Amino acid sequence: MSERQSSGSANSSTGAPAAASAPGGQEPELASPTPLSRRDFAALGGAAALGAFIPRPIARETWRPGQGPPPAHDADAPEPLPSFRYALEAQTGRVYAAGTAKESTVKQMPGAEGLAGVSMRLQPGAIRELHWHALAAEWAFVLTGRCQTTTFDPEGRSEVNDFGPGDVWYFPRGYAHSIQGLGPGECHFVLIFDNGHFSEYGTFSVTDWTSLTPPHVLAQNFGLPEATFAKIPKGELYIGPGKVPAMDATARPDGSAHDAPQTHKFRLLAQAPRESPGGTIRIVSSVEFPISAGMTGAYLTIAPGGLRTMHWHPNADEWQYYVAGRARLTVFGSSGRARTEEVSAGDATYIPRGYGHHIENVGADECQIVAGFNSGFYQEVGLTAWMHNVPPALLADNLGIDEEQARHMERAAVPIAARS
Ligand code: MN
Ligand code: MN
Repeated sequence: MSERQSSGSANSSTGAPAAASAPGGQEPELASPTPLSRRDFAALGGAAALGAFIPRPIARETWRPGQGPPPAHDADAPEPLPSFRYALEAQTGRVYAAGTAKESTVKQMPGAEGLAGVSMRLQPGAIRELHWHALAAEWAFVLTGRCQTTTFDPEGRSEVNDFGPGDVWYFPRGYAHSIQGLGPGECHFVLIFDNGHFSEYGTFSVTDWTSLTPPHVLAQNFGLPEATFAKIPKGELYIGPGKVPAMDATARPDGSAHDAPQTHKFRLLAQAPRESPGGTIRIVSSVEFPISAGMTGAYLTIAPGGLRTMHWHPNADEWQYYVAGRARLTVFGSSGRARTEEVSAGDATYIPRGYGHHIENVGADECQIVAGFNSGFYQEVGLTAWMHNVPPALLADNLGIDEEQARHMERAAVPIAARS
């Protein structure tokens, strides 16, 4: 089985270069002679799959300053913003005796081109089998319980790590890895992938490959008698039962002293947060966690009545998982478009690169959010911080207020504002 690729028909509808889905799940190749980066290609695919997420110029002949968006009958009027919320935990997903997996990709959340995510649960001893990904790196945050990962990199180096709540792992694209529940009790974690077309159900699993390979080839490949392979799984195991490891990684001779120069584990919740009047933010980018070259992760808490203030990310899309609480997420999409969604624990959301957004905690409890970005370097621009750096006279003219009022807008710029 190959990993899911973008649909070719979506590309052809706009004349964008078609993606050739090569056998064996290889990366899409560009048919166009025009040199395009993969990010350019992704943007084109995004335009095709969901024009609504791509800002489009409005018709100049009908537009006047201050008149708002053009009328709906205008052929060039932008499409309304689509839903950017998916009730991830309300889905059934893949269910096994040893564990479950639920995913949100561009298929479940149209327009979420840049990132996908999975909620996975493993019982004690359960194995998310040996596998790799052709299309995406894997970033993870452990919510409850304990698990152990193994990974093997292209330089022949390996690492075994134990994880508990608040810990993060990162596997670069193509690195071999596995996950196993350590118990006691279920281990629940969120996985975030830096490609919206990545499907957790289409990974490259070792049993998928061995079950498609003739026994004489397996015998020659591994240097073992053919009879050795008589009982291997017929078809992909994906999640299966296993024995809880006798020792944890810190006690294992092959686990405590990993031989890779960069560890795959980062203890995010063990870090001191950036405190705001209305909550906290922890961020882990490649600066703090060097192996995480392609992704940044974050953990936010917003107090009741608090506001994650208006901002955008110049260099990355954002995928969120709501761990706890109730919130109202608003996304500003240019061209007179904004959309607000009520979100609660178990929901996934997606905010395209450059789109303005803010989060209000509208519940009685703290709102907790795990977020992933598809860049190893974290960037954000806050609206309040920006206004502080604009001459008051300009701000006054732009907003139609007087200069004294413009000066009074200079309240402290905070990532999370307290209840007002
Ligand atoms: Mn994986
Ligand atoms: Mn954000």
